[in-house]
Amino acid sequence: MENAAKIEESEPARPPEASRELVANRETLKRIFIMRENDSARATLVKYMEQILFGLQDFLQRHVGITEEVSLPELAGRFMDSVIKKEPEKKLAQVITELIDDIAPHAVNVSSPYFVGHMTSAIPFFMVHLSTIMAALNQNVVKLETSKVVSVVEKQVLAKLHRMIYGRDDAFYAAHIQSGHTSLGGFVEGGTQANLTALWVARNRLLGPKNGFEGVEKEGVPAAYAAHGIDRCVVLISQLGHYSLRKAGGVLGIGNNNVIPMPVDEDNRIDLNFLSETITRLSEPSARTRIMAVVGIAGATETGTVDPLGKLADICARHGIHLHVDAAWGGPTLFSEKYGDILSGIERADSVTIDGHKQFYMPMTCGMVYFKDPLAMDAIAYYASYVNRPGSVDLGIRSLAGSRASHSLILDSALKIMGQRGYALLVDNGIETARAFADEIDCRENFTLMSRPELNILTYRYLPRDLAERFAKAPAEEKVRINAHANRANTELQRLQREAGKSFVSRTTLRLSEEKGGPAVVLRAVIMNPMTHMGILREILDEQEAIAERHLSPYFQNARMER
Ligand SMILES: *Cc1c(COP(=O)(O)O)cnc(C)c1O
Repeated sequence: MENAAKIEESEPARPPEASRELVANRETLKRIFIMRENDSARATLVKYMEQILFGLQDFLQRHVGITEEVSLPELAGRFMDSVIKKEPEKKLAQVITELIDDIAPHAVNVSSPYFVGHMTSAIPFFMVHLSTIMAALNQNVVKLETSKVVSVVEKQVLAKLHRMIYGRDDAFYAAHIQSGHTSLGGFVEGGTQANLTALWVARNRLLGPKNGFEGVEKEGVPAAYAAHGIDRCVVLISQLGHYSLRKAGGVLGIGNNNVIPMPVDEDNRIDLNFLSETITRLSEPSARTRIMAVVGIAGATETGTVDPLGKLADICARHGIHLHVDAAWGGPTLFSEKYGDILSGIERADSVTIDGHKQFYMPMTCGMVYFKDPLAMDAIAYYASYVNRPGSVDLGIRSLAGSRASHSLILDSALKIMGQRGYALLVDNGIETARAFADEIDCRENFTLMSRPELNILTYRYLPRDLAERFAKAPAEEKVRINAHANRANTELQRLQREAGKSFVSRTTLRLSEEKGGPAVVLRAVIMNPMTHMGILREILDEQEAIAERHLSPYFQNARMER
């Protein structure tokens, strides 16, 4: 990085680097906006980009471990200064060097193939190039005047994914792909905002204008309930629904207590009988309730399971309820010829959430929401005369966000580079590796598979064989007792492995019924990095066995003694 410091070299004689004060003045300001033409300055800027592309890439490849062993309090101690310096402190070269040398080693190496705990992983290297172009163009897709062709690209890529989900005919897409009067969906910040947007549309359509009432968006929830003769609105979701849906209940003013979890069956799918009974009960006029939406999950965050979307669509059609499918995680499965059918029925959903920064392997953050009805998003349209006018392609009209980056450029380019088949290969590999991992867990005597991977997420726990056998035959109370010990042990196991810093699986709690032993702490693996192969997964299990033998026997001794 020494070369980088020489950006000033061609300047007239100046004092040596160390003693030279950095100052902010009009001259230096101008320099950061005008890229200077001379060769050495250019070479330096190219070097920085090289450093970012290769220095960081090399680093990520060398440091297979998840993170270096510095404790969080110790790190926090280094970041205690809250004063912004009056004058510039550092040059670009120094800042880049420090980010690479001092920050990156203590960030989490999510690209490691040993990092199998979360929905964030390695991204293809070209995403860095595409992000750089997005930053360099700095288009604001809130309106055409600050984005022009980029808004048009966004409409196109929205149509491409709409077609992946809904598969409408050519005439449909010809009519809507570039129409200023309709929207097939929108880019949003992430799955959270996509779910919020879908439910925002559902709310406004349900509590629309009526007999002089101007609609919930204008008059608010209390007036809407009065005008529609109800006391509340509810959203029905599986108990494995993402917590962003509860946030949406809060933000939309229906109250998050009214985002009601339904129990799940043996396979972690929403219990359809319970759902139907709930709908019938809440539809009684005396309940004074309207069902704003039913949400089906395509790839539950904890277990990766997919709700029976076709059956949910049948139920919703029968009762005229908005069906939203949260496919934040599972959406790209639709590209797979082998496994795409797992999501069948999604084409009947009124709205669908998909995250770009999950299985499209895009950099943070990019979410999308899609609507079956191209007029649905009119329910959330806002106009402001200085930015966007009715009938224009201004994308800010039907969007919670105002100014926003052009992530569609990244996704559109990635789709061209990967093709459907490229993404399908990633999806297939994840599912098949997760299934092989599940078989391996089944073979190891001290592990129990807790949820079989339907997609590429699975959960399991460590429980010595004798206890697992006892658990299987035990009455409910004893199950609960064994679980109490197993839960503490697995919590500890996950923590010790994380702190050792070599590999990472996450931990969650499955809310099992009392007969099944009640809440169970489980280890959760998400297989999305194509570099994560069975050899690595076996090492991760070996490490967990070693940790268990060294540290966890007291928990299990206690469990054995207590009868
Ligand atoms: C990740 C996820 C979300 C939330 O998405 P963010 O991008 O983190 O806001 C919602 N639902 C499901 C099923 C998810 O997997």
